[in-house]
Amino acid sequence: MKLQLSDEDIAFREEMRTFFTTQIPQDIRDTVAARRELSKDQIVRSMQAMNAAGIAVPNWPVEWGGKDWTPLQRHIWHEEMQLAGVMPPLAFNASMVGPVIAAFGSQEIKERFLPKTANLDIWWSQGFSEPDAGSDLASLRTTAVKEGDEYVVNGQKTWTTLGQYGDWIFTLVRTDPDVKKQAGISFLLIDMTSPGLTVRPIELIDGGHEVNEVFFDNVRVPAENLVGEENKGWDYAKFLLGNERVGVAPVGSTKRTLAQAKEYAKTAGAGGTSLLDDPLVAAQIAELENDLLALELTALRVVANSADGKPHPASSVLKLQGTVLQQAVTELWVDLAGPNALATGAADGSDVPDLARVATTNYLNYRKASIYGGSNEVQRQIIAGTILGLRG
Ligand SMILES: Cc1cc2nc3c(=O)[nH]c(=O)nc-3n(C[C@H](O)[C@H](O)[C@H](O)COP(=O)(O)OP(=O)(O)OC[C@H]3O[C@@H](n4cnc5c(N)ncnc54)[C@H](O)[C@@H]3O)c2cc1C
Repeated sequence: MKLQLSDEDIAFREEMRTFFTTQIPQDIRDTVAARRELSKDQIVRSMQAMNAAGIAVPNWPVEWGGKDWTPLQRHIWHEEMQLAGVMPPLAFNASMVGPVIAAFGSQEIKERFLPKTANLDIWWSQGFSEPDAGSDLASLRTTAVKEGDEYVVNGQKTWTTLGQYGDWIFTLVRTDPDVKKQAGISFLLIDMTSPGLTVRPIELIDGGHEVNEVFFDNVRVPAENLVGEENKGWDYAKFLLGNERVGVAPVGSTKRTLAQAKEYAKTAGAGGTSLLDDPLVAAQIAELENDLLALELTALRVVANSADGKPHPASSVLKLQGTVLQQAVTELWVDLAGPNALATGAADGSDVPDLARVATTNYLNYRKASIYGGSNEVQRQIIAGTILGLRG
């Protein structure tokens, strides 16, 4: 195993660093640095700037805008964007539905959707989970019944992230109720302006509106919106979820927020003194830095060993430890902010530092990270079974 970057990779890293720190609008990077929510417009502008430079969807086939990069170059691209405070391209488009359409869709569906998906002219939502189908996704009950050249869809999806912005939703629907549950599922693309489709917000503990419920009441969908073959949707979903897991170890952004926390700690003590002089704080930060370094090296090892673009089983380790550390850093922020962490509603002009005001909402919001993308308990089961060979 060689963990030293080659001269070529160092040059590539510089190219990415320069792009992300100079070509992504500053207001977007400032919002990320302040740990505040990006608006729809900011997310669209950020992805469109990357797409204009040809680097929004490097994991796609080259003919649809992908890059012939090595896994290591893709990793560097992803790390550098996070270190620069740039939001990665919208995952629903770039790492979920895009690769599925490119791999399994008809030529007509590819031409119709891929260019608009890469440029975020279409904002996709992910309609997989249902109230009784989360980790056990194959139990989903939303039905699609073929009537002539249309499917009639009935049922409910839940936890649809940013569904309030969605133009289209890619769904898993039951097209055959009489076979083994995995064998009767299809992958259907649905226009979110269709009559009978309703999006309702779910209120979150941090006061934000990030997730939704989506209801389908006799929604009529043209049969040509089916991706691949009917009843093969489970295969496409497994392909998609493998990609999703690789992208959820946010080493770069966690490093950036930890560095910010350390900087903040320098003057966060009583009377502007340094909290870094407190041995407990210093030890906590040093431990997190070491754990992040270990995760970074593990990520490089996984990247070095992933063949043919297929996710390595160790991607579950990255998801698990990546989110554990992401949550640990949000907890550190609350500790450093002290009583100021309670001041989430402080008005503009208050003495409470900006980053202290968002500490608690961030802490609460990031409880989600160990649930989505396959819960951490489920990742532990995968690691135990496929890596450690501990089958129960
Ligand atoms: C913020 C957020 C955004 C999301 N966005 C989307 C989205 O855009 N689109 C979408 O389709 N879905 C989305 N999800 C849904 C997400 O994929 C599910 O929440 C996740 O799959 C877990 O399912 P569940 O919530 O139904 O929990 P359950 O599956 O009901 O699990 C409940 C508990 O049991 C544990 N558990 C379940 N099975 C096992 C097992 N086999 N071994 C050990 N423990 C187990 C789980 O870890 C968990 O602690 C989102 C979720 C969150 C929190």
